[in-house]
Amino acid sequence: MKSIETLSSILIETLKEFSSEGMGLTQESLSQALSSKKEITGLLLQDLHVLPFADHPSDQLHPCPPTGNEPECEKQSLQELDLHCRPILQRTLLKILAELAPLSKEEHLQQISELQQHLQQSKSMNDILSLSDEMVGTVRLLIGRTIEEAEYTRGFLAELGRDLSGMEKQILSCHGIHLETYNSNTRFSGELLNHADEMKDALDSRKEYGQVREFILSRLTAVKAAVDTKQKEDEARLREADRKLSDLRATLDSHREEIAQARMRVEDLEKEVLLDSLTGIHNRRAYELRIREELRRFAREGTTFSLTLIDVDHFKEINDRYGHRTGDRCLREIALRIKSSLRNIDFLARYGGEEFIAILPGSFLEGARTVAERIRAVIQRTRFRYQGGEIPVTVSLGVTEVGEADNSPEAIFTRVDNAMYRSKNDGRNRVTTL
Ligand code: GH3
Ligand code: MG
Ligand code: MG
Repeated sequence: MKSIETLSSILIETLKEFSSEGMGLTQESLSQALSSKKEITGLLLQDLHVLPFADHPSDQLHPCPPTGNEPECEKQSLQELDLHCRPILQRTLLKILAELAPLSKEEHLQQISELQQHLQQSKSMNDILSLSDEMVGTVRLLIGRTIEEAEYTRGFLAELGRDLSGMEKQILSCHGIHLETYNSNTRFSGELLNHADEMKDALDSRKEYGQVREFILSRLTAVKAAVDTKQKEDEARLREADRKLSDLRATLDSHREEIAQARMRVEDLEKEVLLDSLTGIHNRRAYELRIREELRRFAREGTTFSLTLIDVDHFKEINDRYGHRTGDRCLREIALRIKSSLRNIDFLARYGGEEFIAILPGSFLEGARTVAERIRAVIQRTRFRYQGGEIPVTVSLGVTEVGEADNSPEAIFTRVDNAMYRSKNDGRNRVTTL
């Protein structure tokens, strides 16, 4: 059962990746993505009681040796997957849906229950995979909610923090007033006692007043006792106020600590939703948010920016020849190289499979073209090593600058996409500006 739970989380994670990167979900892409998760093979084998694949050296990442017959090997593993894993996948997806249901809004419950029914009736792996698009759609809706909730929670926490600081100020000022009253009472009592002492001394030196003198002396002693009692009571009240204040401060501090932790959790959640798990750079969702922000800034303040779309050339061949995992390693390295060719203020995201997009704030077309040319040259120069040999990798780039007519993210993206396709059509490994 433990393995089913782990399998569920791997599947959820994979579906999230598909969703956030807007990747097409097909039997091939899902099985490719799943086979790149090393935990999953062990899990499935553990459930199926079949022998694991032989170990391979770390740089030979594909489970079958790259002898040119990979398609046959992949076919076999797909048949195995269909034969043995369908019931597991079916159970796992049902479990995921059962977990999603309580998180979902009222209007999606019907959709989830229909999905559950279809899944239960599925007779083959293809049946199940054909339902995946709907699953991804549902997960996407939920991820959207998570971002909204994260933003709401962040605002709420900030407000709570401000409320707490306001409360603390009020408490401190009340305590200050209390302390001042105590101090002025003490001063007043002190003066009263001094006067009483002076009067007592004066009366002590004059014996002739007889009974009146005795009477006044006894009243003075009573006044001194009353002042003394009052002083003690005030001191006790002040100590009590001090104690309450330090209790309150401790409570406020612990609330503040809780708020700080909640803020960190929200930030982690936001990061998780906005980062690409393979390369560690931003994902498409983050890009969509940022491009809207840049367009708003451009409309408001006229701050220009440029966009560069970078697509790896013939990447499918790299996957086919060297295996999907080697492909993944190349993508990580490419992301790293592009990032280090950019300035800190530039924004880089993985737009989809083997496509990256960079926003260059403040850059005009010519400057952005120079940066794109630098990225192209850096990738071409990079040595992607594989089993003692090298994998040649190049990229095609499109570059564009924001213009007055760009009233939507789609408008500017279409232009940079067209520019990138021109680079492809003109022979790849080049930069085109539009
Ligand atoms: P072109 O020069 O025209 O861009 O050719 P291409 O092969 O790069 O383009 P195509 O769109 O035909 O193929 C893209 C490939 O990228 C296919 C897909 O399997 C692969 N891919 C997408 N996402 C990932 C991923 O996360 N990891 C790996 N290893 N490959 C991926
Ligand atoms: Mg592409
Ligand atoms: Mg490509």
